[in-house]
Amino acid sequence: MNIGNQKVVSITYKLQEGNKSGEVVQEVDNKEPFVFLFGAQQVLPDFEMNLKDKAVGDLFEFGVQSDSAYGPVDENAIVNLPRTMFEADGKLGEIVKVGNFLPMKDQEGNPLQGLVLEIADEHVRMDFNHPMAGKDLFFSGEVLDVREATAEELEHGHAHGPGGHHH
Ligand code: ZN
Repeated sequence: MNIGNQKVVSITYKLQEGNKSGEVVQEVDNKEPFVFLFGAQQVLPDFEMNLKDKAVGDLFEFGVQSDSAYGPVDENAIVNLPRTMFEADGKLGEIVKVGNFLPMKDQEGNPLQGLVLEIADEHVRMDFNHPMAGKDLFFSGEVLDVREATAEELEHGHAHGPGGHHH
């Protein structure tokens, strides 16, 4: 069976920054493969394009340009926030350190992560860009399983079972 729309696909993959010799950002092995419903916009369009028509046992490797991945770095997403926002009883929280990602909320209360760039007397400089913004991605891996999606999976728009949604 080949990968295409309405198929549930299981793969291993390694994500590297830039190219084949770049830093490994994420690695998903066959103990806990990545499972997704193909054609349901769950993954980057370039990711699907490169996996289409592959079958079990096929290996893959491809690059995705930053513009087709997480987009360019947005300078407006780098902001100075009052240092007091990060303090409790006049002290900075323990996790507030340059280089750490902090769990925060946007104005609508949605969770987002921010990277601490600088801690100054009056402010903390934060970067709310996606960590992979402005970076090219390189994926490599293997196709472990391809099966027909169930009617329920198609209705929900995601895969069920091991590696998928449980509910
Ligand atoms: Zn579901």
